[in-house]
Amino acid sequence: MPRVAPPDVDRVAAAQAAVAARRARAAVKRSVTSRGRTALDVAESAWAGEPTSPEATLRVRELLMSIPSLGPTRSEKAMGELGIATSKRVGGLGVRQRDRLRDYLSLREGHHELPTSRLVVLAGPTAVGKGTVSRHIRENYPNVLLSISATTRAPRPGEVDGEHYYFLSDEQFDDMIARGEFLEWATVHNASRYGTPRPPIDAALADGKSVLLEIDLQGARSVRREMPEALLVFLLPPSWDELVRRLVGRGTEEAAEQARRLETAKVELRAQDEFDVKVVNREVGQAAAEVVELLEVP
Ligand code: 5GP
Repeated sequence: MPRVAPPDVDRVAAAQAAVAARRARAAVKRSVTSRGRTALDVAESAWAGEPTSPEATLRVRELLMSIPSLGPTRSEKAMGELGIATSKRVGGLGVRQRDRLRDYLSLREGHHELPTSRLVVLAGPTAVGKGTVSRHIRENYPNVLLSISATTRAPRPGEVDGEHYYFLSDEQFDDMIARGEFLEWATVHNASRYGTPRPPIDAALADGKSVLLEIDLQGARSVRREMPEALLVFLLPPSWDELVRRLVGRGTEEAAEQARRLETAKVELRAQDEFDVKVVNREVGQAAAEVVELLEVP
């Protein structure tokens, strides 16, 4: 018998319902990423509530990936160890799988203990405007603790030592490395060295204050290794053309240097999926506000 297509009205309603369900699942994931809810709490609600709830219909892989510090690779590895197929939804797990996931999440999330402060790392491709966003935060959100990096590059006009950077000689930078005073450090654009002094960060976190780092991609990866609980934020340009325009428009570098930085930016853009949250820098005030919001522990 020929299949009868559903009437248009039904199809429209079904499409709208699917969009609403996707949005609800996205909201659940965001709440885990911003640490408003633990992944364990989401899983428990999935198992206690309706099988059609956003929690129950969320894929396990997506739930794991929304946990800050669990990227795609770690999530997949965890699923393999837990014996859960990639396509499984949280509500569709069997009893044993639920037990294993529950144990895994409780262990990972320190038995529901949520931190009172957090380390947020802002990275992104070169010329995306990280510096502008962090300057805007420094000037407009005096309560935000912004880490001051050390660098071996020379100050640009208007830059103040101890405010924008600690401008160090190569020897001074070597000494800090030798004393183990950097949380991370890297050579950026094959030129100067930049590093994040660790003591002020440890002190702030111990004091229950959140700290923001604006560093390059290599630095963000090192922080992830050193402090897996840090929240990694990737600042995106609205488009590639806009990124090129911003880099060329800045006019602080020679043509050869600009070309080199664009090459770096291309590679850097590919790393965005390693990050917990993406913020599009359409306008500095909007991007800064979104980053500051992430510093607040709900
Ligand atoms: P600029 O010289 O334009 O101020 O910064 C160049 C690059 O160095 C930017 O991508 C900036 O994010 C990065 N950077 C600044 N401070 C640090 C730091 O402490 N560590 C690392 N790894 N990169 C940094």
